[in-house]
Amino acid sequence: MKTLQVAICGCGIAGLALGILLKRQGHHVIAYDQFENPAPVGSGFLLQPTGLAVLDALGLLEQVEKHGAVIERFFGREATSGRLVLDLRYDALGEELNGLAVQRDTVFTTLYNLAKSVGVQVQSGKIVTSSKRDGVRRRVGFADGTQSEPFDLVIDAMGQRSVLRPKRSALLRYGALWASLDWPEDAGLVPNAGEQRYHRSSKMIGIVPIGTSQTSSTPKAAFFWSIKGQDVDTWRGQPLSQWKKEVAGLWPETEPLLDQVATHDDLTFAQYRHSTLSNPVSHALAHIGDSYHATSPQLGQGANMALLDAYALAQGLEREKTIERAFDHYIWARAFHVRLFQSMSWAFTPVYQSDSNILPMLRDNVIAPLSKTPTVPTLLAKMVTGLLGNPLGRLGLHPIGAK
Ligand SMILES: Cc1cc2nc3c(=O)[nH]c(=O)nc-3n(C[C@H](O)[C@H](O)[C@H](O)COP(=O)(O)OP(=O)(O)OC[C@H]3O[C@@H](n4cnc5c(N)ncnc54)[C@H](O)[C@@H]3O)c2cc1C
Repeated sequence: MKTLQVAICGCGIAGLALGILLKRQGHHVIAYDQFENPAPVGSGFLLQPTGLAVLDALGLLEQVEKHGAVIERFFGREATSGRLVLDLRYDALGEELNGLAVQRDTVFTTLYNLAKSVGVQVQSGKIVTSSKRDGVRRRVGFADGTQSEPFDLVIDAMGQRSVLRPKRSALLRYGALWASLDWPEDAGLVPNAGEQRYHRSSKMIGIVPIGTSQTSSTPKAAFFWSIKGQDVDTWRGQPLSQWKKEVAGLWPETEPLLDQVATHDDLTFAQYRHSTLSNPVSHALAHIGDSYHATSPQLGQGANMALLDAYALAQGLEREKTIERAFDHYIWARAFHVRLFQSMSWAFTPVYQSDSNILPMLRDNVIAPLSKTPTVPTLLAKMVTGLLGNPLGRLGLHPIGAK
């Protein structure tokens, strides 16, 4: 491939990873983001053996491992009875695999620093509003009315709300209030595990240890409370003590975390969309990460899929002689895995976040016992690790566990 002029719109995990890989291939890369000061948005996320493999290929695994919390199990109990209704164990795969839960800041800062050091030109304060064809190339338009020079390739890595997505998607009814809080050592929470409590599907609490950050050695936990978008204002209008009582009633061990919540503003509301582009490429434009496939974080794959997309597209551009052929490689490497996990996320999200009476009954009385029958634990482990559909095989990578 000749040396390309590439514009990456969006400096999230997908955009930064792709920027690093393309710069290393010798392309000229400019990355635009709306942020004034580089910063990640959100609490933490779970890196799976898929995402860890890409971070390893980028040479960043050790830096991220230093701060993350190793996750060996993900489980959930029905809040009233205490019954175990979800139990995903990484060791069901019989390999030394696990997840690594991290603070967003850890991954963002590591990627951002490397992107800068390899020479990706990051331009902040640039709100992208459009991208128009210019012969065989493409320009990027900004909110201040200016336009970029033409680029050989424009990447849309602007996440679920991207303005360059051809398809607008509706918000899911349920989202979550979240916060990063100090990990309560003596609260009786299971270390090295993500844990949830459910009451029907309308109430869900989640806690995941997310390790330390570059700026603080205090271990943190990501705390989530499932809530409908339309109910957030009502929640804000109620005394915080009333909500804390409800949460502690469902899960008493959360009390040391709830003690750290002083005002409603200590929790941030995150809303999700579910949408998958049938074709993530068009004329000199490729969508990667959430702009290609947005969904709820119930299966915890979004950041990992963003890393896989970046790696697959970079690999296509490295191996092929034209952008069109590189796009074919990208689709060949990613489309099946994306469709598979988007379908599973679409099917499973209402089991944990919806107003349904039937789905939680199925979850607790049919899916939970079924999940203990032979081969199902392996299948579930493949799902939680993101390895179902063998997404790494097509990229020539191998699953990696954190140390
Ligand atoms: C509460 C929550 C929990 C999650 N937990 C997990 C988890 O455990 N595991 C997991 O794998 N995933 C998880 N996810 C999903 C994961 O965060 C996303 O899939 C991932 O961040 C997508 O990365 P991205 O680079 O595609 O987009 P983003 O991270 O959204 O980055 C998009 C970037 O584009 C920029 N941008 C947007 N619009 C414009 C514009 N018009 N002009 C210029 N710049 C723009 C933004 O400022 C941002 O920097 C979770 C998400 C949420 C909300």
